[in-house]
This record gives sequence, C-alpha cells and structure tokens, in this order.
Amino acid sequence: MSKRECSQDCAGRALAAQKQKLTGGAMDRTFIVGGNWKMNGDRKAIDEIIKFMRAGTIPTNNEVYIGVPSIYLDYVQQRKPKNVEIAAQNCYKVEKGAFTGEISPDMLKDLGVKWVILGHSERRKIFGESDELIAEKTAHALEKGLKVILCVGETLDERETGQTNAVVFRQTKAVADKIKDWRNVVIAYEPVWAIGTGKTASPEQAQEVHDALRKWIAENISKEVADTIRIQYGGSVTAGNAKELATQKDIDGFLVGGASLKPEFMEIINANVKAEK
Ligand code: PEP
Repeated sequence: MSKRECSQDCAGRALAAQKQKLTGGAMDRTFIVGGNWKMNGDRKAIDEIIKFMRAGTIPTNNEVYIGVPSIYLDYVQQRKPKNVEIAAQNCYKVEKGAFTGEISPDMLKDLGVKWVILGHSERRKIFGESDELIAEKTAHALEKGLKVILCVGETLDERETGQTNAVVFRQTKAVADKIKDWRNVVIAYEPVWAIGTGKTASPEQAQEVHDALRKWIAENISKEVADTIRIQYGGSVTAGNAKELATQKDIDGFLVGGASLKPEFMEIINANVKAEK
C-alpha cells in the first residue's frame, strides 16, 4: 500500500469509527460490495470492465471484490484496481487429489485470491450442492486462510409457503455445525426468486430476513458474531435500487450479478448511504 493509499485508508477507518459512536455500533460493519460475473465474459469484455472500474471511484471505507470465472482469475489479478479483491466462484473441500475439474483453496491462494463465493443458489440448484457439501467447502476454505462469501436464500415456492426463515436458518446452521470462527465469513442473503429475474426484494423484505438471520445467529452462534458479521443482499441489485436497499440497518453491502458487468456497478459500489449520515 502506498503512503497516500494508507493515509486515505486510515482516514476512512477513523471516520467510520467516529460514525460508529454516533450510530450506536451499526457502522462497525464495513460495507462490502461484490460482483459475481458468473460464466460470462472473455478477455476483451474483462478489459472493458477493468477500464470502467479503474476510471470510477472506490470509496476507501468500503470493501469491494469481483467474482471471476476461475480460468480468468490470474488475468484479472494482474489488471484489477489495487483496492479491489478477486473472488473465486467455487472451490473444492479437500487439499488436492483425483478430483477432475475441481480447484482447491491452495490453488486459489497460489494466485493471490483472497475470497471464494460458496453456496450460490446456482451451485445448489444446477449442480446439486447440498448444505452439507457447502459447509464442508466453507470449513476447508477457511482452514486454508480464504475468506468466504456464504450464499443463502429461499426459492419462490419456499417464500410463498412461509419457509423463508427456516430455509435460511437451515443453510446457515449447516455451516455453524462445522466452523467455530466466523471472522472471515460474509453471508450473502440472496432470495433465489430475485436472482437474475429483475425482481428485487423490497428494502423491507430484505431487512426482515437480515434481521431474523442476525437474531438467529445471536441465539445459536453468539451475540458477538451476530453484531459483527456482514450480511450482503443479492438479487437484481441495480444502480436504481441500491441506495434504497442500503438504507436498511442490517444490509451491509451487496452481491451483484448482471449489473456487475456494466458501468452501473460503480454506482452500486458507491451506494452506501449509511456512510453519508
Ligand atoms: C447473483 O448472481 O448472485 C445475483 C445476485 O445476480 P443478479 O444480480 O443478476 O440477480
């Protein structure tokens, strides 16, 4: 980190600490916005994304990561803006061996990757990943020193039959049964019916689940984890709805799919209205 970046970073943290006092602790949680490129892009398209990210502003008191297809992780690592981290979109639950097509946390670390997205609803649904497997992957990734974005969320049918909280709690519990230390975990609440559909959860709908999940964590893991863990919202977040969603007390950032491929991603990165209070 250069001297200038360091002093900006320190100033950002000091400001956040000051706001924390004013807001009774709600600002403890650094706002975090991630992009999930899914299986999109080629080197030309990536160059365009890097170009708009380099041209835009990344607030010093926010964290930003981009979830890159594994084949391009190294390409993006060499080109990304300094204050953006890269995330893998998956990894396997063991160190190495005869697991054709898989990548391990050690391999990701070898490329300088800091984050991995696990439990995305597309992995759960299309690739049949169970709560158990996602929990094993999470435990192994954390053991190896990666930070994990753990995705949870209900389908439309589950919401309509009143099972939202039960599903989100079950998915979180599977991980809670396997790990003790949550410091390197960010949860992304992503209602499946809102992913890639253009149907965003309303700020109130999202807040309701975030609040319920935080309470569940307080009761079943610890109050400290509940207070400090960041819960992102994901599901058709755009430049048009991000600021309103970000007003909600328990929304600590976003996981963004489609819009992370477009210049509007920079507006979403800058949508942390809590920081303006
Ligand atoms: C996602 O892929 O995690 C996601 C939230 O996608 P989208 O923003 O396109 O709904």
